[in-house]
Amino acid sequence: MRFGLALAFFCLLAAFFTGACQPDGAGPAGCRYDPSNVVWSHFSGERAHQHCAALVEFGPRPAGSPALERARGYLEAQLKSAGWTVERQAFTEPTPLRPIEFVNVRARFGTNDFKKPVRVILGSHYDTKYFPNIRFTGANDGGSSSGALLEIARVLALRPALAQCIELVFFDGEEAVEDYTATDGIYGSRFYAREITRRQKPAERPRAVVILDMIGDPDLHVRIPSDTPRGLAEWLFAAAQEAGTSSYFGWASTPITDDHAPFQREGVPAIDLIDLDFQSWHTSGDTMEQISPQSLETVVRTALLLVERHLVAP
Ligand SMILES: [Zn+2]
Repeated sequence: MRFGLALAFFCLLAAFFTGACQPDGAGPAGCRYDPSNVVWSHFSGERAHQHCAALVEFGPRPAGSPALERARGYLEAQLKSAGWTVERQAFTEPTPLRPIEFVNVRARFGTNDFKKPVRVILGSHYDTKYFPNIRFTGANDGGSSSGALLEIARVLALRPALAQCIELVFFDGEEAVEDYTATDGIYGSRFYAREITRRQKPAERPRAVVILDMIGDPDLHVRIPSDTPRGLAEWLFAAAQEAGTSSYFGWASTPITDDHAPFQREGVPAIDLIDLDFQSWHTSGDTMEQISPQSLETVVRTALLLVERHLVAP
């Protein structure tokens, strides 16, 4: 009895500081920060750059295209070889052009139960915008963050207990088929966020969603949307301070339409790490020459530190 009480007291103390002993539906006990075993500093900008180049090789990759299906095959093969389980979340929606089947690619570590709650979702869109008159291969817009997410899969697998607390999602249909409206654009994240609300109780939902988009510009200026939850923003800036990358991060003057927005609307805190100040945005000049391994490393190391130090811990 005395031992039981002591254990209970210990657990209370431990739970207060680390979350140990705490029954928690939203992730296994490994969901905590381990300063002696961090993954963020293992992220390689060069490796992410190679994945980005491989995706760009598939050519223009608008939603519903055969090229995007080939890119999807590449994502799935890379994720599986890094030890992740992959599931396609497919749905068909009308668009201004025609009905399109969109496919989000979800990845989990150490389980094939995709209903199991996770603490954090890390996301990127992997489609590229459809342009009838230019050859748009989206090295930065679609390629950079997706190549980075594949390298993230590799480094998270170095710490399986951490990887199990996170879901990686490659969103389809971020780009509008014509122009961004309430019904054209961010198709994949809108569908995904609705599914969360429909299928998960509030306590089971992720604590945070971190979106990466256009992170390869050598002249890097990540600006988070002005409606980013203050707590998430403060943790990002704290992580940037610790990683020595503060000068690359700041606030945008307005909200931004991107894959974080549907989650915000459903009440799941979300942050978008995006560099909108990109000269070749939505032009044929968005090519591999515009992608800096150093920029990929700057953004993603900071994002991973944000995730493992501040978001995953209980
Ligand atoms: Zn775009």
